[in-house]
Amino acid sequence: MNTQTHSIGIKKRIALVAHDNKKQDLLEWARFNRETLARHHLFGTGTTGSLLERELDLPITQFKSGPLGGDQQIGAKICEGEIDFLIFFWDPLEPQPHDPDIKALLRLAVLYNIPTASNRATADFIISSPLMSKEYQHTTPDLERYLQNRQPK
Ligand code: PGA
Repeated sequence: MNTQTHSIGIKKRIALVAHDNKKQDLLEWARFNRETLARHHLFGTGTTGSLLERELDLPITQFKSGPLGGDQQIGAKICEGEIDFLIFFWDPLEPQPHDPDIKALLRLAVLYNIPTASNRATADFIISSPLMSKEYQHTTPDLERYLQNRQPK
């Protein structure tokens, strides 16, 4: 598949989401990394976003709660090129009522080549990357070309 490239600025647009059993983990991680997070634009699903806003005392753009469509809203922002990063601590031990939305969000993150951390160790590696403080040439699939080449059956 052909690709297209666009520049991600120094200030990244980071979406933060955590399932209920993982919220404490995300809050601790975010507190530890507050100084770095403060240099970027932050977004979150409803409950995660409001907890983080209180914890960090930083502005977080909040979408709806995950089970009410918040994951889909973040997915839409990824499609529109308005989210650069996804920190999503999802729960591997509990079924979620919005499982299809979660799958859809994770699928779009892969499709649009969005760096994604599903656990704390990955989030640590991502946030300490030298690329966090640099401009980055981001490659995404050329989906226009993909659509043109698709043959109706
Ligand atoms: P919440 O949603 O932040 O509103 O709890 C997270 C999720 O379950 O996707």
